[in-house]
Parts: sequence; structure tokens; C-alpha cells
Amino acid sequence: MVMTVVGARPQFIKAAALSRVLRQERGEVLVHTGQHHDANMSEVFFEELAIPRPDHNLGIAGGSHAQMTARMLVALEELMQDIKPALVLVYGDTNSTLAAALAAVKLGIPVAHVEAGNRVGTLQNPEEVNRILTDHAASLRFACVPSAMEELKKENLLRNAYLVGDPMYDAFLYYRELALGRPVRDLLDFEGRPIPLPGQFYYMTCHRQENTDDPDKLHQILLAMEALDAPVIYPVHPRNRQDVARLMARHGYRNIRFAQPVGYLTSIRLVSQAQQVVTDSGGVQREAFFAGVQCVTILDFVCWPETMVDNRNQLSPPERDSILARLAAPMRLDPDLKPFGDGRSCERITRHINQFLN
Ligand code: UDP
Repeated sequence: MVMTVVGARPQFIKAAALSRVLRQERGEVLVHTGQHHDANMSEVFFEELAIPRPDHNLGIAGGSHAQMTARMLVALEELMQDIKPALVLVYGDTNSTLAAALAAVKLGIPVAHVEAGNRVGTLQNPEEVNRILTDHAASLRFACVPSAMEELKKENLLRNAYLVGDPMYDAFLYYRELALGRPVRDLLDFEGRPIPLPGQFYYMTCHRQENTDDPDKLHQILLAMEALDAPVIYPVHPRNRQDVARLMARHGYRNIRFAQPVGYLTSIRLVSQAQQVVTDSGGVQREAFFAGVQCVTILDFVCWPETMVDNRNQLSPPERDSILARLAAPMRLDPDLKPFGDGRSCERITRHINQFLN
């Protein structure tokens, strides 16, 4: 029995792709830590993507990084002692990832880490330490892209490390048709207006503390959006709702359509049909790459080196003119470039887990 631990939006999406295969081949207990708990940050993904209901929901959210991680660690240890899984599977880089890896390894339960080897090169990014420690605690490491394998090599972690492709790409390919076929009326912005027609809008997401802790930075990003030639759809992460409302009251942005967080199918439709994408999300910058849509990432470190080619994804500081200059740079699209695999990473991961456990 494999215990999968998820807690945050991008992990639900990856679990949707992998659980489908894993459950067929091997039993799975799904544990939701509760880190993301709003209906439109959690429930909607389980419903839309037909993810099996979590067998356990720990209901742990909020507090400082330490408080959250510590509470998860205690609760997960109890659950693992009770269930005695053969392996614990974790995704990405959140506090849920680290807590599950740490609880399991101390109980002598092997850990499999999906998205192993991702590094942004700075501990200023709060998730970096989660990535590093989880990889070092893991017995099986699944890298999505060649650059992640290189990082594992540098840290002497190539034992039981496999380049499998990206489950996010599996999910994108699997759900894309469904997403593009959906009626547009399912998304309204805060003022009840429907989203514009395909190709007649920009898509933006922005929620990292690097950009949103300082209102001036967020304002600069929004000023760039104000200067664009078509409306900008911006579903606001619950973490930033108040910051955005405050800025809106002060500056009254007119070109930006603020909305509640959208479901995954709507999000990948927006990515695919946008003129361009502006984001600080690890997932959204990859999805823009999958869809062949140009992206500007508002961060000062590279998350996904494979996307940073031919101006397809460019970094920008949170400064109006810099963002606009990047958006104006011409992009080249090489259709043969497929660094995220072939959409079958979940089958590979399941095969390696089976081999490891047998
Ligand atoms: N996403 C979504 N609804 C939104 C914004 C994003 O479903 O309102 C999706 C997005 O398409 C991607 C994932 O959520 O698949 C990325 O999650 P997030 O940005 O929270 O985390 P990160 O990828 O940065 O870890």
C-alpha cells in the first residue's frame, strides 16, 4: 500500500494524473494535509478531475511555516504508524511535502519524491529547503526534466533517481480537450463579466510571497497589466485577496479582471487561449510552455531551465517597464522541443515504484 500525501493545489493536479495509474496497479491511501482548504483551492480539483476522495484530511492550515510543518509532522507520524504504508509518495516542494518525507523516513518507511532535483539556487525562496531536504530523505527520486537530473548528480543523489517526465504534462495532455470544450460562461470576474474570446486577453497569476509581501511590487506588476492592449484575467489566490483589494481601492485598475481562483480546466484553457501569460507560478509557466504561449515569470530565479529558450519564458523583476519590455520581445516556437516527456511519466513512476517494492 502506497500512502500519497498532498496538500496544495498543484499537488492535487499531479495526483489526479498519477493516482489514476497507481490505483490500478497498486493500492493507494490518499492523505490531504489541509494546507489548501478553500473550496476553490481544493474541493473543485477533486470534483473536476475525479480524484478519489482523500481517505484522511488532517485539516492543518495556516500559522507560520514552522507551526504548519510541525503540526503536520505529528499528525502524519500517527497516521503512518497506524496505516503502515510500504512507501510514502510526495510531490514538489510544499510544507506538506517536507512534513510527510520527514515523518516517513524517521519511521523507516521509504519515500518517493516526484519533482526531485528541482532547484532554484537560493534559500531566499522558502520552498527551496523543502526540495533539498525531501530529496535527501527520499529513497526514490523522480525527475521531470534533464536539468533536475543534473542537480541530483551535483548532490550525489543519482541512486534510485529516474528521469520520467513531468506528471503536470501528463495532466495537461489528458485534460486539454475537456478544458477547451468547456463553455466560456463558467468563468466570471468579480464584476460578473464573462471572459473575453480566445486570443483576446492575457492571463496572469501572482501569489508568491516574494512578489506580494510588498504592495509596491504587486502594484508595479498590475501597472504593467494596465498598459496592455487587451484585458488581463487575474484569478487572485486567497492569500493575496486583501492586498489586491487594498491596491484596487487605491488605484482602480481598469484593464484587469480580478476573479476568484478558477478550477484547473479553466486555468489550462486560459493559459492555452491567452495572448501571453504573466505569472510567478511554477505550474503556470510550464503550462504556458506546453501550450506554446509566451510567458513572463516575475521572479529573480529560474524554476524550469528547459522553458527559458527562444524567449518562450523570460524572467522579469516586478517592474512595469521591464515586464512590458519582455512581453514585447519576439518568441520563436520550436515544435520539436519536448523536454517534459511524452505524457507517460505516471506509468513510468508506477513501474519504478513496483520494481522498488517487489
Ligand atoms: N491554477 C488553477 N486555478 C487558478 C490558478 C492556477 O487551477 O486560479 C492552476 C494552474 O493552471 C497550475 C497550478 O494551478 O496547474 C499551479 O498552482 P500554483 O500556482 O498554486 O502553484 P505552483 O505551481 O507555483 O507551485
